[in-house]
Amino acid sequence: MTPLGEILIRRIAATGPISIAEYMAECLMHPVHGYYTTRDPLGREGDFTTAPEISQMFGELIGLAMAQAWVDQGRPSSFVLTELGPGRGTLMADLLRAAALVPGFRDAASLHLVEGSPVLRTAQAQALAGSSPNWHMTVETLPDGPLFLVANEFFDALPIRQFQRDPSGWRERQIAVSDGKLMLGLAMAASYDTLSHRLADTGPGEIVETCTPGASVAAVIAGRIARWGGAALIIDYGGWHSRGDTFQAISAHGFVDPLAEPGSADLTAHVDFEALAGAVRSVPGTASSAMTAQGVFLEGLGITARAEAIARRLSGPALDSHVAAHRRLTHPEEMGSLFQCLSVTPASAPPFPGLGP
Ligand code: SAH
Repeated sequence: MTPLGEILIRRIAATGPISIAEYMAECLMHPVHGYYTTRDPLGREGDFTTAPEISQMFGELIGLAMAQAWVDQGRPSSFVLTELGPGRGTLMADLLRAAALVPGFRDAASLHLVEGSPVLRTAQAQALAGSSPNWHMTVETLPDGPLFLVANEFFDALPIRQFQRDPSGWRERQIAVSDGKLMLGLAMAASYDTLSHRLADTGPGEIVETCTPGASVAAVIAGRIARWGGAALIIDYGGWHSRGDTFQAISAHGFVDPLAEPGSADLTAHVDFEALAGAVRSVPGTASSAMTAQGVFLEGLGITARAEAIARRLSGPALDSHVAAHRRLTHPEEMGSLFQCLSVTPASAPPFPGLGP
């Protein structure tokens, strides 16, 4: 068992089972043993790869779309440019390079990154050395002003709770200890106001997930955009509605048991975009886009033309890997439809480029 596993086993033995949310938060962000606290998990040698690490086209197209959204809102002369969970800083570096083609955008932007991992902050400082980033632990401390924000694979890392439907209510799935090992168990049945709408579309034994931190982050972002203008683009794997158990652990590019090595594997859950859009809708003056597949979004932004332009300068293995990267980002059997996009804009502003209302 990992050192964090020993800590959690002792704690559960002393004070009782913990929620999946508490377990996720400890495993990912424990100050000493957390998965993100202790490593850079990205890339071929790491545990997983993300869209910006697959191709520069991803960040470039998002940069141009963000700059277009800034133009559409009258080019505010100073604004807060933010990324949530910027990983190695690759997306933001590609975004800034492409958006610099739009006169005035770079000079108007001050860069603010929300990042909990000290290791990844160091990587971001290197990738974005010329752009004087400021770091935050949460969106709450971002400065006032128009907010242009991107979050790729951030919301899937936020802690979820799981509830299993039972004839007499919902039973929360919890992490308990049995025979000195971590295991999943079920709490006593209870009724939850926040789940009453799920009685209509679930049957006994079915599992639903909630992610309160995700909804609160979405509401804070929407509140800022309602007040000062701006746009947020959220990209992640998930769908419109949480249904079933999507709690998963990834290590060395494969699925592993989420309870086997606490702190050593990435823990995530699919993002419920309906819940994020609901949180946005609760803020008057903002609009969320239709949830749109990543492949459709990137095609709308012109990825094929950009891919062809880059391909003209390549040959041999470099060309092959570029063609594979284009396919990987857009094809429905790869990341094209597993990943979905949602934007937040002021209700009075034009829709975000590539995303319909
Ligand atoms: N967006 C990057 C990295 C995705 S990995 C990319 O696409 O490559 C998830 C990122 O979110 C990491 O940078 C991780 O450290 C950060 N993160 C996860 N949970 C967080 C939390 N609760 N608070 C702040 N940052 C968090």
